[in-house]
Amino acid sequence: MTVSNVVTSPVTGDVIAEISNATAEEVDAAVSRARDGAQVLGQLSAWKRAELLHATADAIERRREAILADHVLEHGKTLAETDGEISVAVRAIRSTAEDARRLEGRMPHLEDPDKRAYVQRAPLGIVGVITPWNAPVLVPFEYIAPALAVGNTVVWKPAESVPYASRHVASAIGEAGWPSDTVQVVEGGPSTGAALASNPSLDGLCFTGSSEVGDEIARHGSRRRLILELGGNGPTCVFADADIELAALRIVEGACFFSGQSCAATERVLVEAPAHDELVAAIVSQIANQRLGDPRHPDTTVGPVHLAAIVDKLRRHCGDATARGARILAGGRADQDAPTANYWQPTVIADVTPEMDVFSEESFGPIIPVARFSSEEEALNLAGLGGYGLSSAVFTSDLSRALHLADRLPASFVVVNNTSNYWETHLPWGGGPGTKSGTGRLGGDHALYELSTTKTTVVDFGSSQCID
Ligand code: NAD
Repeated sequence: MTVSNVVTSPVTGDVIAEISNATAEEVDAAVSRARDGAQVLGQLSAWKRAELLHATADAIERRREAILADHVLEHGKTLAETDGEISVAVRAIRSTAEDARRLEGRMPHLEDPDKRAYVQRAPLGIVGVITPWNAPVLVPFEYIAPALAVGNTVVWKPAESVPYASRHVASAIGEAGWPSDTVQVVEGGPSTGAALASNPSLDGLCFTGSSEVGDEIARHGSRRRLILELGGNGPTCVFADADIELAALRIVEGACFFSGQSCAATERVLVEAPAHDELVAAIVSQIANQRLGDPRHPDTTVGPVHLAAIVDKLRRHCGDATARGARILAGGRADQDAPTANYWQPTVIADVTPEMDVFSEESFGPIIPVARFSSEEEALNLAGLGGYGLSSAVFTSDLSRALHLADRLPASFVVVNNTSNYWETHLPWGGGPGTKSGTGRLGGDHALYELSTTKTTVVDFGSSQCID
């Protein structure tokens, strides 16, 4: 191992950990142990695996306070956000356990009356999982829980900047009583991730992260099942007939949740021209209720962003937008008096146009760019710019318009009259076809299907009869 990742708290600026990069040889060894582990795990019934998943959820619950203490400091999310993430992870694990018990096969009719066939879901084998830092308790379980539920073993590479959350997750899995070598953890940064992604022995590879790294991961061949959950730049379309106060409230919530560091965040607002001024004023007034500060303080609603690179990007987006004629109406810079440079003030930018970087790129920060449209067709065209296709929101009081627009928006998840961040763990989640947001679906039994394969057995009971 080589020491190379120094973890600095975005909250205090203190160095809080150092992470070694597991080498390609260490990754190979983990994959090979996972192959042995698969033999054992495959012998357990779906019922037993469901029990172990519930035990894993119990272990996470027991660690709640410790995760809160450690993860808020390493990440920058608020206490309430972290607590919420833990609860969602626990619900996701438990609901996967129940879905796994009910996963059924089929018995198709055959032409030959002396034969029967059954089709069942079988594990892929060994699944590699690479996860990001933004929700490091929940996102790993979006893959690990369904992978284990159907009998796969897992080699997991967590994000290098959130070692405390990742180690709590690994310890909880260890405490649950799974057979040895069911889940291997390989710590490290991009080099360890690349070693795992390129390992030829994997039967499945799951990646959540940026679209750029997702493209690299996809180059490692077609022999394995591939799930890629990538970036988003979700537009929220607000029509003049909408409840503007409600739209403003949800837009601010969607942009400030996790300090904007969610793939489904409100990244862009498109508003019908006659409602522009009223909506912008309502957003500016709502954003004033947000309290940027130390995420360990219970009154704080927006913590510092996780990485200095995000601050750089937010600064670039604001600079580019104002240079091209946009107006910053709130925020637009980091808090000068904060302990680190990561405390980015919740920001509203009006008069945004499609050629601005903030419009077409994922900002991943608490920033609300607002652009106008004058027709439904124009709203649809603007929504498609940038090439992402994850989540969108529509605000209107016209149900017919909402449903027609939901069908046509280039996003695989559309929320009407609420934030684009709204999600429940059993709902299908993933990028739209042909977009930069990835491929495959997570959520509920969708993940169980993605992480298993169809196996058909034909039984000939006619030819086995005794012939005198
Ligand atoms: P990232 O792509 O930088 O890193 C993700 C993971 O990949 C980390 O573990 C990292 O170490 C690893 N990695 C980096 N380079 C690699 C390489 N060349 N080969 C293999 N592994 C490599 O992403 P991030 O900054 O950690 O996460 C933020 C991104 O994740 C955003 O774009 C966000 O939208 C996206 N995201 C998407 C979803 C979703 O469900 N679609 C959910 C959460 C986050």
